[in-house]
Amino acid sequence: MGIPGEGHGGLPEARHVWEARKRIAPYVLRTPLVFSPHLSGLLGAEIFLKLENLQEVGAFKIRGAANRILSLSDDERKRGVTTYSTGNHAQAVACMARRLGIQASVFVSDRVPEAKLEAIRRWGADVLIAGTSQDDAEEYCRELARRDGMTVVDPFDDPFVIAGQGTIGLEILEDLPAVDTVVVPTSGGGLISGIALAVKANIPGARVTGVSMEKGAVMYESLKAGKPVVLEESDTLADSLLGGIGLENRYTFPLVRRLVDGIALVPEKDIAGGMAFLLRKHKIAVEGAAATGPGALLSGIVPPGARTAVVITGCNVSADSFLETVNAVRDF
Ligand SMILES: *Cc1c(COP(=O)(O)O)cnc(C)c1O
Repeated sequence: MGIPGEGHGGLPEARHVWEARKRIAPYVLRTPLVFSPHLSGLLGAEIFLKLENLQEVGAFKIRGAANRILSLSDDERKRGVTTYSTGNHAQAVACMARRLGIQASVFVSDRVPEAKLEAIRRWGADVLIAGTSQDDAEEYCRELARRDGMTVVDPFDDPFVIAGQGTIGLEILEDLPAVDTVVVPTSGGGLISGIALAVKANIPGARVTGVSMEKGAVMYESLKAGKPVVLEESDTLADSLLGGIGLENRYTFPLVRRLVDGIALVPEKDIAGGMAFLLRKHKIAVEGAAATGPGALLSGIVPPGARTAVVITGCNVSADSFLETVNAVRDF
């Protein structure tokens, strides 16, 4: 079994995604890739939705968390795991820890919505609110890990996490072998790095495009600057895309720079439009981050390929704020 991070400049490779697939299969739903007649008709291309909102924790992050935690030694499992997160990763870590009988502590910033905190507690993890940003939460988390010998499960900049998220790319290839474009919501870049590794190893000419909210798109600004940068966090419907990429970023920044064809920025009104469209046409309720792909396609910000897969990343939003958002949208 290969260790991601060894060889090839220390970066994970496509074979690590295959290994992740085997490791996590018993713990992760193999989600459907469904044809969207509505988007396809409007755009004159074949558009498919990869429904990661159907995962038990309501987001794809179970894949990366499962791959990381299942790779721990018995001794590491005994000492427990900890993480810092904008929410969905924390739920995933808590869920996997509970299934494997491992103690989990989760640090979050005070920007994380209450609905997400409840969801993490539901999985039996300790939730600790620390600071006003993801960076503050991370600092406290690493301190506790050092003190108590726990393993930090990083939300994106970890070879096992990247490989786990990349299993989505393998499933897309199986269901749509002639895919030419994949649209991926992007924050820290673990998801898009893993998907790009899997897809481009098989179809080098395929286009993998990231989508982020307009304000605080840290990966986008870092690519532009040629190095990781720090931005202030703003409120956005896509709260799962908040957070930096880390000034010490080791894996996702170089992978995104090498493999990703571009990141497009999606205004708030188009994120809301994507949410309303998915509800009214598909009867699917998703969170803002997951609506960035459909929002970008509908508004023309990202041109579709002939066969496009759009990753619908999650559904963790409170019913009240969801309804408030979609009720304010008049289109569709
Ligand atoms: C974490 C997350 C993303 C972004 O994933 P990264 O690996 O951080 O780029 C997108 N959508 C949802 C719902 C998420 O939870």
